[in-house]
Amino acid sequence: MTDLLKLSSRYIDEGIYEGPGSVNRINGQLSEVGDGIAMVEAFSHVVAFRSEAGLVLFDTSLEAFAGVVLGALRGWCGDPVSTIAYTHGHVDHVGGAGAIVAEALEKGRARPRVIGHENVAPRFARYRLTEGYNAAINARQFGGSPGKGGGVIQMGATDRFGPKEWIAPDTEFRERMGFASGALRFELFHARGETDDHLWAWLPQKKALIVGDFLTWVFPNAGNPQKVQRYPLDWAAALRQMAALEPELLLPAHGLPIAGKARIARVLDDVASALETICQQTLAMMNNGMKLNAIVHNVKVPDELLARPYLKPVYDEPEFIVRNVWRLYGGWYDGNPANLKPAADPVFAAEIAALAGGADALARRAQELSGAGEHRLACHLAELAAEAAPESRSVHGARAEVYQARIKAETSLMARGIYGDAARTSRDKAGRNSEG
Ligand SMILES: [Zn+2]
Repeated sequence: MTDLLKLSSRYIDEGIYEGPGSVNRINGQLSEVGDGIAMVEAFSHVVAFRSEAGLVLFDTSLEAFAGVVLGALRGWCGDPVSTIAYTHGHVDHVGGAGAIVAEALEKGRARPRVIGHENVAPRFARYRLTEGYNAAINARQFGGSPGKGGGVIQMGATDRFGPKEWIAPDTEFRERMGFASGALRFELFHARGETDDHLWAWLPQKKALIVGDFLTWVFPNAGNPQKVQRYPLDWAAALRQMAALEPELLLPAHGLPIAGKARIARVLDDVASALETICQQTLAMMNNGMKLNAIVHNVKVPDELLARPYLKPVYDEPEFIVRNVWRLYGGWYDGNPANLKPAADPVFAAEIAALAGGADALARRAQELSGAGEHRLACHLAELAAEAAPESRSVHGARAEVYQARIKAETSLMARGIYGDAARTSRDKAGRNSEG
C-alpha cells in the first residue's frame, strides 16, 4: 500500500514533477487514505468509504478496469456496496458500475443505490446519438490507452464507446442533496465544470472533499477540442466554494489525494486562479472586439502556475480553454469574415497551390518551416498541399513528417492525439501509393 498522502505532500510542498505517470497512477492498487477511507487508483479512481450500512463508492472506473477495481476493493473489505455515487457521467466514471451491481446480485445482496445528477441520464441519451463519433474521437484522443505515462493497465478495444450496459442513476438531484450511510453523512453539491452533470461531495465528519474531476492533477480539462461545452468559470467558483469549507482531505477521481488544510487551500486557489485568468483575459478581449485567432495568441497563463505539478498542460491546455470560453459566451463565428462562408477546402488549397508553384512547393516549404520550429505555419502549408494534391505520395510523406515533428513539440495528449492521427493518415497514404 503506497502512502499516497505522503507522496502528494512531497510533490506539492517541494514543487517536484516527475512526469504524468507519477501523479496519475493507473495501477489498480488500493491505498487507505484515512480511517475507513480508501482509493483504488485506476481510470478513473474509485473512492470508497466503509460504514456500518455498507460501502459507499464514488465512481466506478472504466468497464475494462472493473474486475481489477473490485478485486482491490474486496481485498480491503468484503461488505456489501450500499451506494454508488457518480461524480459525473463520463465513461471512465460510470463504466464499471455494471460489474459492481452484478457482483451484488450474484451474492444475493440488495442492488446498490446509484446516485447522480439529473443530467447524467440525458448524457447517456446523447451518447446513443453520437456513438460512432465518440468511439472515433476517443480512439484519436487516447490512441487506445489512457495508461500512457506509467500506467500498467491497458484499455480494451476502442471500437465500442462505453460499457455493454449503461447504469443510469436511480436517485437523481438538481442542486444539492444529502444522504447517510450508517453514521456517515454526505452532502452532494452540483456544479458545472468539466461537465454539466458534475457533483462534488463533502463529508463533514472527516472534513473530506470528494471532487471528481474538479481536480485531476493536470491542467483542467476545460477546453477539450473534440467534446461538448465545458464551464471554466463555474469550475473555478466550485473550487472556491470547496475551499471555503476548509477541507483537510481531498479525494480526486484522477491524480493523488491531498491532506492538510493549508496545502489543499493552496492547490484549490491555484487551479481556480488559472481558470479565472483565462476567462477574464478572454472575456476582456472579446469585449474589446478582438477576433478569436488574436485572442488565442494573446491570452497567457502565468508560468509559475503552469509549473505546478498539478497544473501541467499534459492532457488539455490553456489555448483550448480560450476557445471554449469563446464558444460559451460568443458564437461559432471567429471574427474573420472569410471564415463566415468559406470556400471548400480543396478549392481554396488549389488556388494557393497554383500561386505557390504547386502542391509540392507548399509541401517543401512546410518541411522547411517545420525544421525551423515554425510548427503552426508548417501545418497550415502541409494541409493546403494535401488538400490540393490528395493522392500525392510525396505530399503525404512531407505532411507525415511535419506532424511527426509537431507531436514532439506538443505537451498535451489532446494535441498529440490529433496530430498523431494526421501523421498516421499521411504515412498510410504515402505507403499505399508507393505500392501502387
Ligand atoms: Zn474523469
